[in-house]
Order: sequence, then structure tokens, then C-alpha cells
Amino acid sequence: MVTIDTDRFENTFRRYSQIGRTDDDGLHRLALTETDRNVRDLFVEDLESLGLDIRIDELGNIFGRREGTDPDAAPVLIGSHLDSQPYGGRFDGQLGVLSALETLRSFEDSGVDHRRPIEIVNWTNEEGSRFKPALMGSGTFIGEFDIANTLEHTDSDGVTVAEALKQIGYNGEESCEPREPYDSYLELHIEQGPKLEEAGLSVGAVEGVFGMAWLEATIIGDADHAGPSPMHSRRDALVAASDIVTSVRRLSNRVADDVVTTVGELEVSPGSINVVPAEARLTIDVRSYDDDAVAELVDRVEREITAACNRENVTYELEEIWRIPHTEFSPRVSQTVLDAAEAVGADHQAMVSGAGHDATYLNEITDAAMIFVPSIDGKTHNEAEYTEMEDAVAGARTFAEATKQLASRSDDA
Ligand SMILES: [Zn+2]
Repeated sequence: MVTIDTDRFENTFRRYSQIGRTDDDGLHRLALTETDRNVRDLFVEDLESLGLDIRIDELGNIFGRREGTDPDAAPVLIGSHLDSQPYGGRFDGQLGVLSALETLRSFEDSGVDHRRPIEIVNWTNEEGSRFKPALMGSGTFIGEFDIANTLEHTDSDGVTVAEALKQIGYNGEESCEPREPYDSYLELHIEQGPKLEEAGLSVGAVEGVFGMAWLEATIIGDADHAGPSPMHSRRDALVAASDIVTSVRRLSNRVADDVVTTVGELEVSPGSINVVPAEARLTIDVRSYDDDAVAELVDRVEREITAACNRENVTYELEEIWRIPHTEFSPRVSQTVLDAAEAVGADHQAMVSGAGHDATYLNEITDAAMIFVPSIDGKTHNEAEYTEMEDAVAGARTFAEATKQLASRSDDA
């Protein structure tokens, strides 16, 4: 079994957390900023001192390669992301990259023999807060987004991805695509939900990710003066929209236990204190591991919208912006995670993820799975995000053991 150096792991985590640290112990490290450059420089330095072969691609994804005993074997890819949300937490992304780093360090220390090459990766702009879309680095790498197009995306100041990469010196030479087929991809991440903590467990072997649908509804009524216009003749778009918000919430547990529904955006126009709202635009996010449940929910949402609009005598337009089926990770890789957790004595369970990650995209080109560690109170994307070091260590141990097993596998196993 692999042993990791827990002191080194904790110290490294503390050191990385200083770069972009906020007053309230959070992390403010937006993609391709000066703070992102600083953490990347430290990461590259750490990869260099391990003697890894380092590559930086044209989108700034950073790879470090450790050879195995068979140079022709398909490599195992491990990693996550070092960028954060604005005033986000220290654990999201960073913990995964540093678990991968500690894994390679411990292999180096103890001379662990593995057949396959292992590559560690830091994906550019996972969060998608400065530049859209999220999962930019991994999505472009697997061919979901076009590289030329991605490089032209701008932030709110009009700076392009290409310019930002150049400014921080991470516009690499390599083409942003796999150089060869991978054997597998493994990523450790915080759960960002409360399930592991509630179950009192340290490790989740993630077997898949929820499917989802995004809808946008525009409710069209009439703008009238808030004084003279009598109540009975009003066609108030916001009254219908409010009705929709509460019915979308109530629908969540009607179809399947795991369905979650959210209205996250609401815009009212003309948006004046003394005018009856003429138009309301709202977005609806529906998720479940069961694609049929998502489809059924979308139908029911539309029926609720029709009913709400009839009651208020307004009309609507409904558009489905996005729909993705659930992701099933590789059973081989998630089973490896379960076996590894067992081997290192970490309390564990199999589970699914409500949120997408870089692993979701990697799963399209190789056998991928994830390891979750608990998030206290499920808090994330804010400074209060927290994972007990004991759980982080259990996760990192599981990660190292699983990586060793993946990298030792022969082709016919
Ligand atoms: Zn993340």
C-alpha cells in the first residue's frame, strides 16, 4: 500500500492557500489573473522538483508526466483545477490538484513501481466566472469547444482569453488536445453537498453525474399605471412568474426522490415602483440522475407555466436552452476507488454528483471517475467552504492507492 506524507500534504495545502487568500480564509483566484499566475508558477516549480516532463498547452492547461516501466502503455491522467470562484473556498479544485501532487511525491519517495505513465494536470478556468464557459480547459481538450473560438472569449473588461494567457505567460506551445489515448482519468474533489458528512463518511466513490435541463421562460403581460389601473383588469407578468417560482419548487419531489429544481434568475421589466410589470424572464434548472425524470419534470414545468399564465391572463414563451443526459463514470475506475478506500481503511460509499466537473468531460474520451470528500454543511463557492483535514487526508490516501492500482494495470486485465 502507498503511504502519503500527511505533514507535507497539509503544509503544501496551506502554502497554496496563501496565494489569493481572503481576509476570511477564503480564496479569490480567478482564472488567468496575476494570482492564478502565482499559483501556476508554484505548481510548475513543484512539478520541476519532481523531475516531471512538463507541457503547457495553448489554453494554459499544465501537464507533468512521470514515466512508468512501460513507455508505450496508455497513461493515467490525474488532477483538477487551481482557479477559484470570486471569494470562493480553498478546497474546491485545489484539494484535487494537491492530492495528485502528493500522490506523485509519495511515489517518488518510496520508489513505487508502476507500469503506466502518470500525468498530473491543472485545467484552465474550470469555474467559468471570469471567462465563460465553465470547464473551459477540459472541454476544449476533449474537443467539446473549438480552441480558436475559446481563445476569443472575453471577460467583463473585454480582455480575451488569448490576451490573458499571454499576460501571465501561460500561452503554451502544445496543441490543446490529447497526444495519445489515456487509460483513465481520476479526480478528487470536495462533494459540495452534505451527503458524506450526514453519513459520517470520509470518501465517496463517484459513479456518475446528474443529467440536467435549463429552461428560460418569458412571461408577457401589460404595463399599466399602479394607481388608476383596477386590479381585476391587470395582466401582471410578475404575479404569474411568482406563481411559477413556487410551483417549480413544489414539483421537485413529485417525480423522483433525487430531483432538484431551481429558479435562479428573475428579471422584471420595466421594473418601476409604480408600474404593473409587463414582462418577467426567469430561468429554471432541473436535475436528476434519471433522464426520464428530468424529461417528465420539464413537461410538468410547462403545464404549470400554462396554468399560471391562464390564471393571470398573460402569455409566455418557453425555450429549452440546454439539456444533457446523466453521466455514467467508468465502473472499472469507480470500483478501483472503492477497493482503494477499503485498502486504506477510509469509511466510504458509492454516490453520484449533482454538479458537473472536469471529469464529466474527460469521461467522454477515457475511463473516468471521481473521489469525493465531505464539505461541512455542504457549503461551497464561498469563504465558509470547509473540509476537515482528517477527511482530506483519507481522500488523498485513497487517491494515491487508486492511482497506483490504475497505473499498475496490464492491458488485458
Ligand atoms: Zn471545482
